[in-house]
Amino acid sequence: MGAGVATETLPTRLFINGEQLDAAEGRTHDVINPATEEVIASVAAAGEEDVDRAVRSARATFESDKWRKLSARQRGEAVWRLGELILKNKEELARLETLNNGKPVFESMIDVRLAAATYKYYGGWADKIHGETIPVDGPFLNYTLREPLGVVGAIVPWNFPISLAAWKVAPALACGNTVVLKPAELTPFTAIRMAELAIEAGLPPGAFNCIPGPGSVAGSALVKHSDVDKIAFTGSTEVGKQIMRDAAGTVKKISLELGGKSPNIVYADADLDAAARGALTGIFYGKGEVCAAGSRLLVEDSAAEEMRTRILERAKKMVAGDPLDPKTRLGALVSKRQMERVLGYIESGKSEGATLLSGGARTPVNGKGYFVQPTVFEGVDREMTIAREEIFGPVLAMMTFSDGMTGATELANATIYGLAAGIWTRDIKKALRTAREIRAGTVWINTYNMYDAASPFGGFKQSGFGRDLGVHALEGYTQVKSVWVDLS
Ligand code: NAP
Ligand code: MG
Repeated sequence: MGAGVATETLPTRLFINGEQLDAAEGRTHDVINPATEEVIASVAAAGEEDVDRAVRSARATFESDKWRKLSARQRGEAVWRLGELILKNKEELARLETLNNGKPVFESMIDVRLAAATYKYYGGWADKIHGETIPVDGPFLNYTLREPLGVVGAIVPWNFPISLAAWKVAPALACGNTVVLKPAELTPFTAIRMAELAIEAGLPPGAFNCIPGPGSVAGSALVKHSDVDKIAFTGSTEVGKQIMRDAAGTVKKISLELGGKSPNIVYADADLDAAARGALTGIFYGKGEVCAAGSRLLVEDSAAEEMRTRILERAKKMVAGDPLDPKTRLGALVSKRQMERVLGYIESGKSEGATLLSGGARTPVNGKGYFVQPTVFEGVDREMTIAREEIFGPVLAMMTFSDGMTGATELANATIYGLAAGIWTRDIKKALRTAREIRAGTVWINTYNMYDAASPFGGFKQSGFGRDLGVHALEGYTQVKSVWVDLS
């Protein structure tokens, strides 16, 4: 791949006020292709001065008559066009995402399509956001306006760079805000390209700025900046807590989509073939670097043996491959550091007494890359580290439960997280009753990992608050003004 990659133009600069720029202090960061371990680009790394420049540009555009004061319909059309442009450039964007993140290009294409759908969905909302008239006491007319917040800072992780950015940028723009997007330092390419495409879509310069740079510098400066009105964050629970503290200084609005340790519950009466397929998709899709990964497989004890056979049969057939090959279904972990972290968790599983059924090791492709075998543990106890902590890798912890729905939901809820859950059963009443008892923001019944721009996504408990996607996300990017008129 080396020579081919070196000759291609990769997006490597900050994008502020419609212009490509180097970082003020000239800092750069090497971006590595995790499948080949090669440095593929040197990308500008924003510092405090750059953050300030991006925020000032976003503020100026917000205050101008070029965006928030456009008719809602015009604004919606521009956001929709950005969705169209993403689709038009889907091959390029999917390739960039794969080179950068290591995920199979087949998956990158799904992410790119979801990003495009998200812009179109919120473009469609722009002229349907309105206030209400309220019947108050006295000779008054009272009505509400739903107004944009101002400058939104979006901070996203490296696992779904294009789609998670779209989940925040699209509703923010549709509501009339302007945006400063900080992608993860590891995965800046598609974020920068999207900000460039926004100009082509007809958004004014400054509406959508992108500042790759380290979280501890650029991310932190964005959160603390006095002229940023909201931070929309996806990432780890640990950084989420830091953002809450840092946002307090300016009483910034925040929404947090954080980690998970999602249970995938298999009742004995389920279609076990479908459940086994769902269990594997739940944990091995996206190499397990998925916040909603079904990392705890909870199987009713009477079906444990049968599930184990089915899971093993399938897991053994999953092999990592070149992520750029359209047939590949398992890619490389995003970085050496992430791979080492995941291998460390696998060691902890072994040393704490779980049984390693399959996988458990690094598996280079063509002698290179941060690939880890699909790994399955059984005999996992709820107190073990691999049952409690988010691994963010292709590692499944199989546990069993007895006592039907009571046992299932008690074990499922035994976590500080509450992002998602899966339920597999042929009994519709049991499925729906279990769905009610689960403390998580998304529940999938007889399926897993389904997303749609129209369906809200976000956490209960320490998985965060606020919602991405759907009509619910609009609340996070608007504020309500109540207007009183004396009619006497
Ligand atoms: P992370 O370390 O929390 O980073 C997320 C983003 O925050 C990155 O852009 C990062 O920048 C930035 N950041 C780091 N420190 C910061 C600070 N002090 N102030 C402001 N921004 C800061 O998470 P990650 O390691 O990239 O991603 C994995 C984690 O994200 C997992 O725990 C996973 O569960 C979570 N996640 C959650 C969801 C969800 O929807 N709930 C989705 C995906 C991932 P740099 O990386 O450039 O330093
Ligand atoms: Mg990090």
